[in-house]
Amino acid sequence: MIFLKTDEEIELLRESNLIVARTLAEMAKMIAPGVSTFDLDKRAEEFIRDNGASPNFLGYGGFPASICTSVNEQVVHGIPSAKDFLKEGDIVSIDCGAYKNGYHGDSAYTFCVGEVDPETVKLLKTTKEALYKGIEQAVEGKRLGDVGYAVQNHCETQGYGVVREMVGHGIGKDMHEAPEVPNYGKRGVGVKLKLGMVIAIEPMINLGRKELVFEKDGWTTRTIDRKPSAHFEHTVAIRKGKADILSSFEFIEQVLGDKEF
Ligand code: MG
Ligand code: MG
Repeated sequence: MIFLKTDEEIELLRESNLIVARTLAEMAKMIAPGVSTFDLDKRAEEFIRDNGASPNFLGYGGFPASICTSVNEQVVHGIPSAKDFLKEGDIVSIDCGAYKNGYHGDSAYTFCVGEVDPETVKLLKTTKEALYKGIEQAVEGKRLGDVGYAVQNHCETQGYGVVREMVGHGIGKDMHEAPEVPNYGKRGVGVKLKLGMVIAIEPMINLGRKELVFEKDGWTTRTIDRKPSAHFEHTVAIRKGKADILSSFEFIEQVLGDKEF
């Protein structure tokens, strides 16, 4: 069942999503060679709690941390670890969630650690562009196939692999609600978008092949060919003409300055 949200509920969702947005900016401040993903997780949890929210990833299905940290060939759901230190040339996708006043926030961004090779930077750029191509289609009267097609077409025409196994989702009182929001699809097909629907759109795009495998920890997914993967996510409310983006990359951009990632 797809829950339509009232304007009041959408404002509560915005509040949770802006906490996520500012938590991601805290991550942007810290990301550098030598920092462990455990340090990032501890800071994220502290920041979320300091803002009167709780980290909704922590304990979700047994997940042991407040953020997912997916480095290089890891696609999503990487587990922070005190043994994993970021190094020059890495990319790290940070997926973060916060729960406040009964509503969930969920957003993700992929960052560069120091200087990253141009081919990988272009993957990040294309994945972020694909997110906004999807958001352009996320308006009343369009269908989920329009969103998925926009993401898929933008990436596949440039030779990238579009992950099939992991998808976006509705979000509200639960972090994962119906409908599923795939990053692939056919125009004019699928669930019709209505006012009050709130969805997380989250392209996961691979430099090489689209297939992924699970690591032995049962959570982390990585690309089958071990080439890098990028992940950007916004939570958006469906409106007439233009989606209302409830999360934000603005705080990250303030931290990064001239650097886009
Ligand atoms: Mg997420
Ligand atoms: Mg999500």
